[in-house]
Amino acid sequence: MFEALPDKGVPGDQILDELRELRRADLPTHGGRLFAYVYDPALDGLDDLARAAHAISAHVNGLDPTAFPSLLAMENALVGAAVTLLRGGPAAVGSVTSGGTESLILAVKAARDSRPDLATPRLVIPSTAHAAFAKAAHYLRVTLDVVPVGADLRADPAGMAAAITPETVLVAASAPSYAHGVVDPIPEIAAAAAARGVRFHVDACFGGWVLPYLKRLGADLPEFDLAVPGVTSISVDLHKYAYAPKGVSLLLHRDEALRRPQYFAYADWPGYPMVNPVISSTRSGGPIAAAVATLRSVGDAGYLELAGRTREAVAVLAEAVAATDGVRLFAPPETTVVCLAADVDLFVLADELATRGWHTQPQMAYGDLPATIHLTVTAAVAATAPDFAADLADAVAATRARGPVELPAPLVQAAGALTPEMVTPELVAGLAAGLGLGGGDFTRMAAVNTLLNVTPPALREALLTGFLSLLQRPTAATE
Ligand SMILES: *Cc1c(COP(=O)(O)O)cnc(C)c1O
Repeated sequence: MFEALPDKGVPGDQILDELRELRRADLPTHGGRLFAYVYDPALDGLDDLARAAHAISAHVNGLDPTAFPSLLAMENALVGAAVTLLRGGPAAVGSVTSGGTESLILAVKAARDSRPDLATPRLVIPSTAHAAFAKAAHYLRVTLDVVPVGADLRADPAGMAAAITPETVLVAASAPSYAHGVVDPIPEIAAAAAARGVRFHVDACFGGWVLPYLKRLGADLPEFDLAVPGVTSISVDLHKYAYAPKGVSLLLHRDEALRRPQYFAYADWPGYPMVNPVISSTRSGGPIAAAVATLRSVGDAGYLELAGRTREAVAVLAEAVAATDGVRLFAPPETTVVCLAADVDLFVLADELATRGWHTQPQMAYGDLPATIHLTVTAAVAATAPDFAADLADAVAATRARGPVELPAPLVQAAGALTPEMVTPELVAGLAAGLGLGGGDFTRMAAVNTLLNVTPPALREALLTGFLSLLQRPTAATE
């Protein structure tokens, strides 16, 4: 590993070679075989364009739009595009954030700070809502009320309505949920929230930029945007289905009054009076310029075409799952997610798919729901989807041949006796070494996933936190 701060500066060509070499260890961000983390439209030249735009604005600081009006203009253009796409009225406003998590934290903050009279503000979400809501609740000291979803994996409007109390500052639901890709019944929940005078946020971080196009293509999906009465805010990640490089999401509010408590201003110190619409103060113009370039290059017609390709890819993958003995569709593939369950060992299956070049995302069992495999499908998958069925069948056969993961009994016993408080750095290091994670090779994860899957969520959180902390150690000064 290189030193980040060498005694003497290193030539640029060498540095770029080093970075390219490092990147070789990563999963492939292009090529339509990675079904999480990345969103690839597979459009020629788009990467180069976004990179060039990023470079033009990389050093611009979003801290002060009067100093850098270019950024204000670009942000207003992005928000304007989203208001049109997500049918906000003439009063709709928005903010550009760094990602979905920040958009959700700010939606919760705006709701919380609109009710300074409440000692214990509360947030109502369905159990399938993104984990970022739990993070927002934790950061902001808002109490989380989690309502079980129905057998159809969708938020239950009656249950959500019943969970609203006089202290509820926000109700939220997903369009669609990340785990299963199904759209919650937004109009019904919106009506219930509105009847109680409570804000309602639609988390369209995942699907906000593709659902409108899927609907235009004829998909039978519920209304989910700002045109629905009672929806007070909505979030959409441009670094997902708008295919912009990482670092851009939008949070829209129905009107300016709803947005006001999202802002933070502070003038009571000797430095510059600070006013921030979002969490970061200094922020780069790079991702914003790259997003503008991406939207302008693809255009409305381009997004419609990409949605069409994505829809075809989803159909091909879903058909492969339905036709393969040993696996089944766990959720209806109604948007851009294929979620499957298996009769064979699911975590071994994920490994077997990975060794065949298909990188999927295992999801742990939750409540009554079994463990599943998640595939986020993007337009690039249209080119690879036809090859999936054969490899899936092959992977299922290999999984059967291997048999399920058998964890050593002492390990299971030890894990069963653990509580989160007992998870020390030494314990995590020992466990990681025992599970073969010491060498930094994360290709065979079935044993790890099997162990995590049987541990209660609080212990799982402690183990994963300990493991990440183990990985995040400063590189020792070398030679
Ligand atoms: C991705 C996602 C988020 C979180 O977004 P980040 O950009 O990863 O912070 C929130 N909600 C949903 C539905 C998502 O898919």
